[in-house]
Amino acid sequence: MFRQVGHEVGERIAQIHAGHGVDVRCGTSVERLVGAADRVTHVALSEGTCLPADLVVIAIGSVPAVGWLAESGLHLTDGVDCNRYCLATPEIAAAGDVASWAHDDLGQIRMEHRTNATEQAMTAARNLLGQRIPFRPIPYFWSDQYGTKLQVFGRTGPDLAFRRLIDHAKTDVWCGVYLTGDRIVGALAWSMPFAARTLRSAVANQARLSDLIEYLSGQVPSSRPERGFQRVRGSSP
Ligand SMILES: Cc1cc2nc3c(=O)[nH]c(=O)nc-3n(C[C@H](O)[C@H](O)[C@H](O)COP(=O)(O)OP(=O)(O)OC[C@H]3O[C@@H](n4cnc5c(N)ncnc54)[C@H](O)[C@@H]3O)c2cc1C
Repeated sequence: MFRQVGHEVGERIAQIHAGHGVDVRCGTSVERLVGAADRVTHVALSEGTCLPADLVVIAIGSVPAVGWLAESGLHLTDGVDCNRYCLATPEIAAAGDVASWAHDDLGQIRMEHRTNATEQAMTAARNLLGQRIPFRPIPYFWSDQYGTKLQVFGRTGPDLAFRRLIDHAKTDVWCGVYLTGDRIVGALAWSMPFAARTLRSAVANQARLSDLIEYLSGQVPSSRPERGFQRVRGSSP
């Protein structure tokens, strides 16, 4: 998870799995599957170890199935290339995993999340009907890992500074933000769904870290509504 959420969060996720008896091995790769007849019996790792195996699950991501569009004349780089309105041509839109579009803030991107597929389809449909609404969602995914609920908003990853904000170590409930300078560009709630709305708003508004800390400690004066942690501007429908 290092590439997705950075080192600190990746470590914590690995710990959850290790705590449930999973032997997590990083920095090594599968060299070959060893078997007899039609059954795999072992997995040989690049470090030289050979692990016994009854069943092998290969999780290596996905690529959009656009082969059938090869002769269509559409631009196919990473999926179907679309403009900021999810349109590949004035009359063809793409949405969901297959669509790569020009996000106003994040550049050309493709997302593989259910929420994105739903929201993008709504915007694409409106634009096909003649409206011109740029699709600029706050990227979001959630994942339930054993008893832990992860909710992640905006930009994350090892290239951004990460700051943990609230940490109830006893119950393993906490949240953190990803920063560009002092601006919040991403956030993560760790078994903290009640904070998700505030974190999403902070990301949507690229709030200052100091303002969010102040807000979370209940000290934001009501005379500063422009900080807008509860209102989300520029989000998808
Ligand atoms: C194992 C797994 C776990 C996931 N877990 C999560 C999660 O926890 N949270 C989350 O947000 N997202 C999760 N996702 C991602 C989520 O499932 C996808 O982002 C979402 O399903 C995308 O929706 P879609 O409609 O764009 O594509 P799909 O759901 O892939 O639907 C595309 C459909 O088009 C069909 N199709 C393809 N080619 C053709 C063709 N030529 N003609 C006709 N039909 C065609 C396919 O058969 C498929 O039914 C997970 C994905 C996987 C694989």
